[in-house]
Amino acid sequence: MSRIAYVNGRYLPRGDAMVGIEDRGFQFADGVYEVCEVRGGKLVDERRHMARLQRSLDLLRMDRPMPASSLAIVMRETIRRNRVTNGVVYVQVTRGEMRRDFPFPPAGTPPTVVVTARSNDPAKIDAQAEAGIAVITVPDERWRHVDIKSVALLPNVLAKQQAREQGAREAWLVDAQGRVTEGASSTAWIVTRDGVLVTRPLGGDILPGITRSVVMDLIAEQGLRFEERAFTVEEAYAAREAFVTSASQSVMPVVEIDGRPIGNRAPGMTATALRRDYHGTAELT
Ligand code: PMP
Repeated sequence: MSRIAYVNGRYLPRGDAMVGIEDRGFQFADGVYEVCEVRGGKLVDERRHMARLQRSLDLLRMDRPMPASSLAIVMRETIRRNRVTNGVVYVQVTRGEMRRDFPFPPAGTPPTVVVTARSNDPAKIDAQAEAGIAVITVPDERWRHVDIKSVALLPNVLAKQQAREQGAREAWLVDAQGRVTEGASSTAWIVTRDGVLVTRPLGGDILPGITRSVVMDLIAEQGLRFEERAFTVEEAYAAREAFVTSASQSVMPVVEIDGRPIGNRAPGMTATALRRDYHGTAELT
């Protein structure tokens, strides 16, 4: 274990080393990391690891936390302070700390950087190498469990950021067949020209929205026409109404998709009525 950790400019004893609860690494997995081997007190393949770190930062459009030369010093100082001769050094960089909101924090928000180092036992690893190890195979499901409300929200963050940059509030995610799965942080709905409410069925590809389930109760109570099926982007463009549901905004009318007006670019009757009635059906405890 690292006894001393570098956190945002300071070397701290492990127990005092902390990042805030609003850190985007914690909230959204909105961060990157690198691990470099330490052997005989030297960094192994540092250049390549640092190049990959830079690549990861660039792809996520994150600021470099400090110049490469400074990071090289911090890594060495962390290794030294932990008296690591053989082991590993971790560098973790997140998009910093900010009141929880999906899009990127404002430019200039300092990234969070944590560097830790720990020793390992080369003799033990060598012994393992002599025996060899076993592996198993598992389906590669990284990260497909969107039905779990996990903090692995990086794709959602990127989609929301793009929405914001294009003057929209939400991004609807589209599957390989051109069908809308759900919003980056909401359930997607349309009302067809024939007045049928449509939302995607539950399954591995959407979060089972609580608001969705309550709206379904409302639909049943009011005897509205409803189809639980996937709908395409084209169908959404042509819909009479569209809306999203989520705990933070209950029923929110959508008036524009990809720059195209939905209905007459005003909240639809159905969405407005559902929004009005929502809290009458929802449980308040
Ligand atoms: N899908 C995703 C990906 C979400 O993040 C949310 C919001 N939590 C929803 C759907 C809507 O779920 P709920 O109605 O439970 O808030």
